[in-house]
Amino acid sequence: MTESAFRQEVREFLAESLTPEIARAGELMTSVFADFDATMDWHKRLHRKGWVAPDWPQEYGGTGWTLSERYIFQEECKLANAPALFAMGLQMLGPMLIRYGTEEQNNYYLPRMLSGEDVWCQGYSEPGAGSDLASLITAAVRDGDDYIINGSKIWTSYAQHSNKIFCLVRTSKEGKPQAGISFILVDMDTEGLKVEPIVGLDGTVEQCQVYFDNVRVPAANLVGAENQGWDVAKSLLEFERGGHNFTIDHKKQMAKIDRQASSQYSEDNTLWKDNPIFAAKLSDVAVDALALEFTELRVKGAFEAGGNAGALSSLIKVMGTEIGQRFNELSLEMMAEHAFVKQLDALLPSFEGETIGPDCGLTTMAEYINNRSATIYGGSAEIQRDIIAKRVLHL
Ligand SMILES: Cc1cc2nc3c(=O)[nH]c(=O)nc-3n(C[C@H](O)[C@H](O)[C@H](O)COP(=O)(O)OP(=O)(O)OC[C@H]3O[C@@H](n4cnc5c(N)ncnc54)[C@H](O)[C@@H]3O)c2cc1C
Repeated sequence: MTESAFRQEVREFLAESLTPEIARAGELMTSVFADFDATMDWHKRLHRKGWVAPDWPQEYGGTGWTLSERYIFQEECKLANAPALFAMGLQMLGPMLIRYGTEEQNNYYLPRMLSGEDVWCQGYSEPGAGSDLASLITAAVRDGDDYIINGSKIWTSYAQHSNKIFCLVRTSKEGKPQAGISFILVDMDTEGLKVEPIVGLDGTVEQCQVYFDNVRVPAANLVGAENQGWDVAKSLLEFERGGHNFTIDHKKQMAKIDRQASSQYSEDNTLWKDNPIFAAKLSDVAVDALALEFTELRVKGAFEAGGNAGALSSLIKVMGTEIGQRFNELSLEMMAEHAFVKQLDALLPSFEGETIGPDCGLTTMAEYINNRSATIYGGSAEIQRDIIAKRVLHL
């Protein structure tokens, strides 16, 4: 099939299956997450079509699409306002289990991930371990056929909606810190596990702290061997960092800025799009976004030829997140006083009341605040710059 015929097929599916309610949830996204119920509804529709895990090998439920087709699919979904699916299972744990999991683990967990029966969250960070993840102290002690886990994980995204968590735990204090870490799968309903929500600056809850008080987990839930979890963890982070297309996010941001600039007026009573200073600032960011698009496509080409992104993935992470934040700043400048009105209810897809200010500015402030974290999670900008300095510039 040609790429344009494929694009047409995706568009037809979206026109049939992406209901206005689900698309509204996608439109109102202020972070990488959309409304939970709408996202799960969309997940199930994609699952019925067989399109929920395009990146997985076909024998495990993938689509068998080429990299270009997967890119087109993501682009069409994003621009049609489809909610982003939760990445922790489908994009991170799934591919990692396919590489490291046992047959029993794969037979049990992968179909449940595809159907949406299990929703996963990621238990890596701790109050004392973030960038320096190897210093984590949450401990798992062997007791017969089980491990008993004590400690705490923090910044666990969407733990409040998840029924499963994959965790890095300390199983040994011998040798290098990395050498005593194991990777384990935990049922969130297990006795002794408690989830406490953390309210973000924008007033919503996306992250949680998860406490483990003598949580008993079968040893069969270990992925990889005991004390070999660091390699498993790194492989999963590759999927986390490699799976994202910033260019597609930027296109959606630019489309929103276009709507704002064509309908809102600046202080001198001209539409923002006709304001020369604003136009210069916008083109400055748009040019950087275009340069990044070429880099992302170059990396995809390398992947298709069997290579890997190497240190370029750090460059893409830094550029991609910082360009996104610059777009947020431009939106904030245009929406001015409207952006300061806090109307959290209006960000729910089910909201039917009156909103204050234009619809195109509803998400501006929450997006701006939320996206400050993009240069922290998934490897902070400072750490990525260190990697670029060492591996690319050989400093
Ligand atoms: C929105 C959001 C969602 C998240 N979701 C999850 C999740 O689902 N699961 C999970 O496990 N974790 C999650 N995290 C945690 C995230 O991975 C950590 O915040 C991140 O690794 C940074 O760790 P830290 O917050 O402890 O900051 P620290 O590591 O304490 O860093 C503080 C500051 O110091 C800088 N710094 C640290 N070390 C160095 C160095 N060697 N050189 C130069 N600068 C340095 C950092 O860049 C940063 O600016 C999330 C975080 C956020 C903000």
